[in-house]
Amino acid sequence: MEKYEKLEKVGEGTYGKVYKAKDKETGQLVALKKTRLEMDEEGVPPTALREVSLLQMLSHSLYIVRLLCVEHVDNKHGKPLLYLVFEYLDTDLKKFIDTYRKAPNSRNLPPSLIQSFLYQLCKGVAHCHSHGVLHRDLKPQNLLIDKEKGILKIADLGLGRAFTVPLKSYTHEIVTLWYRAPEVLLGSTHYSTAVDMWSVGCIFAEMARRQALFPGDSEYQQLLHIFRLLGTPTEKNWPGVSSLRDWHVYPQWEPQGIERVVPQLEADGLDLLVKMMKFNPADRISAKAALDHPYFDSLDKSQF
Ligand code: AMP
Repeated sequence: MEKYEKLEKVGEGTYGKVYKAKDKETGQLVALKKTRLEMDEEGVPPTALREVSLLQMLSHSLYIVRLLCVEHVDNKHGKPLLYLVFEYLDTDLKKFIDTYRKAPNSRNLPPSLIQSFLYQLCKGVAHCHSHGVLHRDLKPQNLLIDKEKGILKIADLGLGRAFTVPLKSYTHEIVTLWYRAPEVLLGSTHYSTAVDMWSVGCIFAEMARRQALFPGDSEYQQLLHIFRLLGTPTEKNWPGVSSLRDWHVYPQWEPQGIERVVPQLEADGLDLLVKMMKFNPADRISAKAALDHPYFDSLDKSQF
């Protein structure tokens, strides 16, 4: 790691700290991320190799944070570890939204910026899905922003996540549930690309509101947040829902109409949001279809 000058800690992910560093030779800023991918006596385990090469392949998209290289390092106990070296971006969407919300200059994000960020997010998600990869943990903290260029890129691509997202991070911090799809919360085991589109919908609403749409603090509370706004799902609008593993009897709520909680969005934006927030995963709009939604008609797509 002598190649890099460690500058400061920039974040804490589910699996470890992220450091800002400088490539001493080129001066390029990078983000260093220690992985859980430990090496055994035989070297890099094949599962780790598979994940890293998948990440490398996906990161050829402009809308996915670029993996520059992978470094082997021995930690202080002589244990070999893998570090991932990513391009550095100056902020993430959570911090970016915070700068708009925080007084004294509290203001909304410009509608054209929300439109552009959402388009880039759908591009990145469509790219992952076309390669058969689900992200499973999309949230504003995982979306990196280049403020100057107005670019958004997806980070933290399910490395080592296998089939589930842990409930606690490595520092025992609770992993956020706010963007988790109802089928995941209800214990569905065969979930699909639609889980990411639920998260995209939550993020879309949050950019407009500057506040999380469903800030639940337990899996049960998370479901109640969702049901209170969208109505308690039924076998009619979501066939099979009552057979899901964690289904219980819930209070019966009528749908409230999403416009009440995102008055900032105009008709096309609301229509797209509603299509992202369908209970039945089979009815939820795909990333690819979202790119063609009328909400993006006024966007200059040539820049993408
Ligand atoms: P992650 O584990 O990818 O969710 O990263 C945790 C936090 O570290 C993020 O919320 C960002 O603030 C920061 N971060 C991660 N990757 C980068 C990067 N490539 N450039 C700048 N900051 C990053």
